[in-house]
Amino acid sequence: MAKENLEEIKEVDLILGNNEKKEIVKYIESYQEKNVHLEDVMHQKEFLDFGTTVNMEKTRAVVKIQDGCDKFCSYCIIPYARGRVRSRQIESIVEEITALAKRKVKEIVLTGIHIASYGKDFEEKTSLIDLLEKINQIDGIERIRLGSLEPTIINEDFLQRLSKLKKICHHFHLSLQSGCDETLKRMNRTYTTTEFSKVVQLLRNTYPDVILTTDIIVGFPGETEDEFNKTYMFLKNIKFYKMHIFQYSRRKGTKADKMENQVEPQIKEKRSKQLIELSNQNQREYNKKYIGKTVEVLFEEKQGEYIKGHTQNYLYVAVKSEEIEKYHNNLKNVQITEENEEGLIGKIVK
Ligand code: SF4
Repeated sequence: MAKENLEEIKEVDLILGNNEKKEIVKYIESYQEKNVHLEDVMHQKEFLDFGTTVNMEKTRAVVKIQDGCDKFCSYCIIPYARGRVRSRQIESIVEEITALAKRKVKEIVLTGIHIASYGKDFEEKTSLIDLLEKINQIDGIERIRLGSLEPTIINEDFLQRLSKLKKICHHFHLSLQSGCDETLKRMNRTYTTTEFSKVVQLLRNTYPDVILTTDIIVGFPGETEDEFNKTYMFLKNIKFYKMHIFQYSRRKGTKADKMENQVEPQIKEKRSKQLIELSNQNQREYNKKYIGKTVEVLFEEKQGEYIKGHTQNYLYVAVKSEEIEKYHNNLKNVQITEENEEGLIGKIVK
């Protein structure tokens, strides 16, 4: 919400910008009536490091490595709302993950607004792969999972270094957004479908068990039936394991909001349903290939009479057992016996 709108809410006594969060106690103590301390986010140059920025979800720890984005996709407000790329210092990230490993955390997920841009704002040349090489050396961490990744970062050099890091999970969430070149151009995405296919091929050659997931926007302004069909066919060929489908919604202040030919809600709904169906089909088809195979599962939670967890490549596996205390946060080999719409079912093998 904009500063001006916040100021009009009578219950609001104090407005702080992202960069002032660290000083929140000081501001609360000193405020009198209505104060405004909102630094222009576009001028922020440093990552706001709270020391620990981790969220624990089940057995996984989510670690934020950067903020902001310089990409300016035409539908997205983030570069205006969160400012330019600011990366967190490698030492701070390594320190936090080392502390997590001491607390027996086995899996970390690296997140940010645009993690492919990690290090671009540092004076000394640093990139995401440099950071990953450091994290891979931390004892006790067994899995490093990457959050949503811009496909353009993946090339032969990157994969050559990445494939040497044994803790990297073979699960990549590549934000595609559309499978039609004309739509991608209007979205101001910086790759073509041909380039994206090449990235997929490189990943599949490097990691035969890789799982690829993505985000797709349907009903972007000007998306004709023909454009949507191109997207549909592209996705049918690529066969993502899972697709998160978003119906385009207008964001004030973005280029796409001012574009002509906004798409009717019922058309967005129809296209969304078609892609969700395709995603579900792909997932079940892929899961079936695992029946009879043995996979390693990190157990996270108990649901009813099952304990559940994920494989490193992000298959969701359930095992019938009451003994969550025995298995929680432990890696165990599981033989897959069946699959259903929720995932895979198996039994623990010694
Ligand atoms: S969609 Fe992602 S890459 Fe594009 S501007 Fe928004 S945050 Fe940046």
